[in-house]
Parts: sequence; C-alpha cells; structure tokens
Amino acid sequence: MSYASPRVRSAPVNGGARDMVDGFGRRIEYLRISVTDKCNLRCVYCMPEEGLPWLRRGEILTYEEIAEIVGVMAGMGLRRLRLTGGEPLVRKDLPRLVDLLAAVPGIEDIALSTNAVLLAPVAKRLRDAGVSRVNISLDSLRPDRADAIARRPGTLARIMEGLDAAHAVGFDPIKINVVLMRGENDDEIPDFAELSRTRPLHVRFIEVMPTESNLELSASNFLSCDEALACVAEVDALEPVSGPPGNGPATYFSFPGAQGTIGVITPMSHNFCSRCNRMRLTADGHLRPCLFGTIQTPLRDALRRGEALEPLVNETLRIKPEKHLLVQGSSEGSGGLIALSQTGG
Ligand code: SAM
Ligand code: SF4
Repeated sequence: MSYASPRVRSAPVNGGARDMVDGFGRRIEYLRISVTDKCNLRCVYCMPEEGLPWLRRGEILTYEEIAEIVGVMAGMGLRRLRLTGGEPLVRKDLPRLVDLLAAVPGIEDIALSTNAVLLAPVAKRLRDAGVSRVNISLDSLRPDRADAIARRPGTLARIMEGLDAAHAVGFDPIKINVVLMRGENDDEIPDFAELSRTRPLHVRFIEVMPTESNLELSASNFLSCDEALACVAEVDALEPVSGPPGNGPATYFSFPGAQGTIGVITPMSHNFCSRCNRMRLTADGHLRPCLFGTIQTPLRDALRRGEALEPLVNETLRIKPEKHLLVQGSSEGSGGLIALSQTGG
C-alpha cells in the first residue's frame, strides 16, 4: 500500500481559516459520523441476518464527545458532516446531536444517510435542528422484494412514508441510494431512473462492495454502473450534468428536462479515490482515513483522558491511503470488515 508523504498541511490559510490537506493534495473537509453500529434492517449486501457483535454502550461516543471531536476538527478545516450508521435513527434522540453539531463554529452543512424507516416522525425536528439534506437507501420499488432485501416485513411502505416526510419538511436535495444486484433488482433500473424525471429526486446506482459477510453476493450478483447506465440510456437520452450539491463520489446524468438526476457510484469499476474529500468517525471513536483497510486512530480514550486530539487527527491525515484496494470476491481489501455498517458506509 502506498501512503501519503508527510506534506500534510493543517495551517492557517485564507485569512485565518485553516484547511486539512493530505499527502496526495486532497482537501479533507467532510466527516462521516457513524452514530451507532446497530440497525433495524438486515440488508442482504450489508449485514448478516443474525446481526453483528454490537458495541457496548460505554464503548460508543456520547453526543457531547462527538461534538467535541467535531469542534477540534472544525478548527482544523472541517466544514461538512454526514450522520450515518448502522441506522442513525435507531439511536435515541438524534436531533439532540444535530443541535450540538449545528452550534459548532465552522460547520456549514449537516446531512443524514438513513433507510428512512423511522424518519417520518422526526423529519421536521431534524430539519429544524439543522439537517439540510438526506440520502435514503431504497433497493427495490416492489414491496415483496424490498422486504426480502431488507429481511424485514413492511419495509417499503415505511420507507415511502419517510420519503414523503422528507419532501414535506423540505430536505434538499434528496438522494436515493440503490445498491445494484444482478438478478435481484436490475430489472427495476428503468423504474428507478424514471423517478428522477417527474420528481426532484437524485437516484444513485451503487456498485456493491465486498465485505466478509457478502462475498458470494458481491461476486455472483455484481452489476457494474456502466451496465446500469446502458440500460437507462435505452429508456431515453442521457446527458452528463453537474448533479446536486453534495460531497459524494457520484457522477451524474439526466434525462432531458428531468427534475432530478441519475448518478453512479463506481467503487469497483472506476476508482474515484483521487477525488476523496473525507474521513470517517466510527461509533466507538476511531478516526478512519478510508472506508476500507485497517488504518484507524482511536480518539475516544485520548478524549476521555483529556489529551489533545489535533496531533492524532493530523497523524490520521498523514497516513490517509492514496486509494482503496478492494478486490472482487475477496474480503482482503476491506481490511477484515464484516459489514459496511461497522464504518458507516
Ligand atoms: N442505514 C443507513 C442507510 O442504509 O442509508 C446508513 C448506513 S449504510 C451502511 C450507508 C450506505 O451504504 C447505504 O446507501 C447502503 O446502501 C450502502 N451499503 C451498505 N453496504 C454496502 C455494500 N456492501 N456495497 C455498497 N453499498 C453498501
Ligand atoms: Fe442497515 Fe443501512 Fe446496512 Fe441496510 S445498508 S443493513 S439499512 S446499515
């Protein structure tokens, strides 16, 4: 693996503001925060049916600890946050965390990734607290299939309630994440694409990534985004567009005159790591420079001992790898991850 050379800059620029630049010249201003490793679904590509050995309560960062870490990193150049998990909405009173994060000087944007099953009752409170936009996982538009993929009955109906609530309270943009699985949901690609025509929805097709718990599915049912786009292009002409505001690695297209867009996220077929702008904070307080691999820095215990975090953040920035090393059909490149829910996806 190739590591960053020690050119990390975390110094005042632009009249006092600071920025975090890794050894490959990438500005890091975005943190994905996993607030819990638990989830109310068991998506076939993500988590084993029996769940995982969950973290204990004392191992998980409190909301105040998360806000403190964000405060330190905001002072170094962090600007944007995304709350994820596991399923972030299974953690009690998530809006209280948003209140704390929205008050951190320097934080300009807070987003949420959710399966939306629990979204409807808290959507307004989250919006009022400062979540501006949401990504919603939705892998099938057919109730029986959506439930089978999530391994939970009644899933699609509740996701749709969550989606309606997301519109009603004004989250913007709303992105729909669809994990592509040959033989499972590939015949719905045109239907998903059509969603973007008449509604301001941004539908993103994601290539499934291998982890310890999905090796067979991620190898046998893999479908590339190129294939998905070819399928969409048979429906109508697609033109490249800049896409909605956001921090992601997606490339966007749209149908002529459509209100929304169609995006592709291609971790397997086209590596996008040169544009990486992020780090990750796990529920138990590890700062990870990459979704995959074994590199991570424990912040939680240092924080609880009252030690300075900035040197630890700088060190993590310094060792941020140039790119992920995922290999189809193998868990090697994922660094032993059982499921993406462990690091926030
Ligand atoms: N529970 C929330 C949700 O589903 O949106 C947030 C956490 S989930 C781990 C974040 C994203 O990762 C979701 O869009 C999910 O579809 C995606 N994901 C999970 N496992 C994946 C895998 N093996 N390959 C590709 N995407 C995956
Ligand atoms: Fe839960 Fe999200 Fe993983 Fe599905 S993708 S099991 S909703 S964490």
